[in-house]
Amino acid sequence: MNQRVTVIGGGLAGCEAAWQLAERGHRTRLYEMRPQRSTGAHVSDRLAELVCSNSLGSKLPDRATGILQAEMKMLGSLLMRCAEAASVPAGGALAVDRLQFAESVTETLNLHPNIEVIREEVTELPGDAPTIVATGPLTSPAMTQAIARYTGEDYLYFYDAISPIVDAGSINMARAFSANRYGRGDDTGGDYINCPMDKDQYLRFVRALQSAETIELRDFEREDPNFFEGCVPIEQLAKRGDDTLAFGPMRPVGLTDPHTGRRPYAIVQLRQDNLAGTLYNLVGFQTNIRWKQQKEILRLIPGLENAEFIRMGQMHRNTFLNAPALLHATMQFRQKSNLYFAGQITGVEGYVGNTATGYIAALNLSRQLNGLREWAPPQETMLGALCHYVTNCPPKAFQPMKANLGILPSLTVKIKNKAQRRRAYAERARSAMLAALTDLDDQVIQANLENSELKQHVET
Ligand SMILES: Cc1cc2nc3c(=O)[nH]c(=O)nc-3n(C[C@H](O)[C@H](O)[C@H](O)COP(=O)(O)OP(=O)(O)OC[C@H]3O[C@@H](n4cnc5c(N)ncnc54)[C@H](O)[C@@H]3O)c2cc1C
Repeated sequence: MNQRVTVIGGGLAGCEAAWQLAERGHRTRLYEMRPQRSTGAHVSDRLAELVCSNSLGSKLPDRATGILQAEMKMLGSLLMRCAEAASVPAGGALAVDRLQFAESVTETLNLHPNIEVIREEVTELPGDAPTIVATGPLTSPAMTQAIARYTGEDYLYFYDAISPIVDAGSINMARAFSANRYGRGDDTGGDYINCPMDKDQYLRFVRALQSAETIELRDFEREDPNFFEGCVPIEQLAKRGDDTLAFGPMRPVGLTDPHTGRRPYAIVQLRQDNLAGTLYNLVGFQTNIRWKQQKEILRLIPGLENAEFIRMGQMHRNTFLNAPALLHATMQFRQKSNLYFAGQITGVEGYVGNTATGYIAALNLSRQLNGLREWAPPQETMLGALCHYVTNCPPKAFQPMKANLGILPSLTVKIKNKAQRRRAYAERARSAMLAALTDLDDQVIQANLENSELKQHVET
């Protein structure tokens, strides 16, 4: 019998991790603090409770979450199996009956002979025992402190204040321009993309922000006196006065618009967000405006009329590590080889992405215990790209990331047609995952491939 392992947190990542370890023969203790102690967002004692939406995202094969779901099915994910069994009609999305989903995961884990579910808050990281920490965005305060002692306070964050991210290809460079303030930096034309505004455009934008509807804070966020401290949302800045933004994140100093030869009245700066240069974030634009309206307002910015948003701005409580400084792409903690992190605490966002990192952490812990080389999916796959992004992004600029096509390596040939481009990304991801799994020395994965229709695909 294999060595005993510990998983802390019975959410999406922790449940997937516990199951994958147990299936590989490890006696697994899964600690979950509910119902004794809740998070403020969970409402039941069930494992794998979905805290908000009941949708696991688009299931269309050429969309980011659809690609990720397909990869998780290839890997033999328990939670994907339970989600499909509990699915409800939702057009192109995979939505579930949340009760049925959580109950089936809870029951399956309770019945597994290698899993012991322990309803107890863990307040310390276990000394030398092989462990996966998957305590989620609402990790209990005692555990948060224990993690901070391990990682250092500077590497643990408590809130998201996320600026929107746009697809670089959708920025209208006939109106925007590349430049650094005062021409600083190298002479490549500028690291920032700048969207200039005249006074009328600026005031129209400010009015829209002042009247925008925001997402309500939850009780556990409202009660926290530190919430939003140090990162005021743009709509709140706009409400402080018409000119507040023009003297703050939208100040135009040091910039001349090459299209007019003049300094604009105000400016929105966009900074490169990934190495490939396909994603740009709006600097200092953290916001809590409802997503539909947020898109409409941001498209008032000259140059962003047709912007495609990869991620909308948002602000909420979220405990997460500075993963690029602390974790390998296998989810292993750099400073302690038998400690792994999984789920939202690694900076991955979204139900399926979080579940997926639980799988990766468990697979690698199991491989390590069996003396096998650790494994990370190829970067051409959505899961590989996500793991790579959260562990390789520049640590200073790190913000959580969800599955999206922008984090995949660029295609070798340029495809103009958007639908064809999506399909090309999806097909490349599928082939890369199948090829990598076919070669992987893991009996559970091989059995899953053997039993599924994927086998046929591999053979043809
Ligand atoms: C309010 C909110 C709403 C969200 N809505 C969505 C959404 O609609 N769609 C989406 O895709 N993503 C959403 N997310 C983001 C994320 O996908 C989910 O939070 C997801 O559940 C994270 O998975 P996880 O396994 O990392 O954490 P969780 O699913 O939260 O699991 C962590 C588990 O650890 C337990 N735990 C915490 N501390 C301890 C401890 N010390 N000892 C033992 N157990 C402990 C918790 O009780 C919990 O059960 C939301 C996040 C939040 C905070």
